[in-house]
Amino acid sequence: GLTAGIVGLPNVGKSTLFNAITQAGVEAANYPFATIDPNVGVVEVPDARLDRLTELVKPKKTVPTAFEFTDIAGIVKGASKGEGLGNKFLANIREVDAICQVVRCFEDENITHVAGRVSPIDDITTINLELILADLEQVDKRIARVQKMVKAKDKGAVQELEALEIVRDVLESERPARVAELSEDQLAIVKHFQLLTMKPMLYVANVSEDEVADADSNEFVQAVRDHAATEGSKVIVICARIEEEISELEPEERLEFLQDLGIEESGLDQLIRAAYSTLGLATYFTAGEKEVRAWTFKQGMKAPQCAGVIHSDFERGFIRAEVVSYDDLSAAGNMTTVKEQGKLRSEGKEYVFQDGDVVTFRFNV
Ligand code: GDP
Repeated sequence: GLTAGIVGLPNVGKSTLFNAITQAGVEAANYPFATIDPNVGVVEVPDARLDRLTELVKPKKTVPTAFEFTDIAGIVKGASKGEGLGNKFLANIREVDAICQVVRCFEDENITHVAGRVSPIDDITTINLELILADLEQVDKRIARVQKMVKAKDKGAVQELEALEIVRDVLESERPARVAELSEDQLAIVKHFQLLTMKPMLYVANVSEDEVADADSNEFVQAVRDHAATEGSKVIVICARIEEEISELEPEERLEFLQDLGIEESGLDQLIRAAYSTLGLATYFTAGEKEVRAWTFKQGMKAPQCAGVIHSDFERGFIRAEVVSYDDLSAAGNMTTVKEQGKLRSEGKEYVFQDGDVVTFRFNV
């Protein structure tokens, strides 16, 4: 599955956040495929539509879809120079599909800051620069090779060289490759290299307990937001310590705890949903009397592939999918009315799934 990696300088709150993630309480029995890697934390994706479907269908069991975060520990500064641990840090980032960068926005004189003072933009620059330098090295090497191919009259090489030079210019100006202005063809060429700074970045501003309900008045948060805007990235504000406390509570107590703090939704839930959509993920539902369940697919996936998310047999033997949108089902209140209204569609192999589709698959075994 797709995963988002958590990175950040030392003492910014990564471990605290990751603890919250691993303690948040997925029911392991529901996710037998979940990895047992200690650096991977599985969380359930909060979705109010699932609650509504449960209310309508009254199943024996409801299962949310799940999502993975990977804890990327290791040294950051100097990583691109490729010394042992630094190499490993970059290799770990290479394996994730999106990056969640935790940034310290809380002051606490008892907790050392590696740079001596709280300064989120310096922290962001430190990390991003390592990623940019690693990419630049890779791109420069490739450019040298492609230049030779151009000399040898290789037509495809000309196009590749153009794309790479655009990216190199962006990297040399110390900006991430993802802001490069590329045509669709050029983007396809560059994607092939799996550059670190092409991966979507999500900033996680970690604020103190007493500021989380009023994050807008925190100047550090504002600085992170301004920076993120320049590269089209999202910012989620959390207090990692509170998230850790919440994760230790029983689910029924969590809501009350949040209300006391004046927060509507936990920061972790916001982070999960933001990472999910940043990765281009979407949800469809199956809604039977035994089980109402949410499933993750990648936007753009067609019906057979989506069936394969449940089981490979479903993909192989796919015949058709009976589909109603969540909105139509929720408005109608039950399947009988949905059918009377002509809102149940029979879709074939070419159907592109939409977020919120409620589905029954027909397949050969
Ligand atoms: P890491 O090195 O990035 O993994 O950082 P840790 O999660 O170990 O946190 C470093 C220190 O900062 C610990 O003492 C945490 O308790 C503290 N810390 C983390 N998040 C918060 C927060 O939101 N508020 C405050 N006051 N302290 C925090």
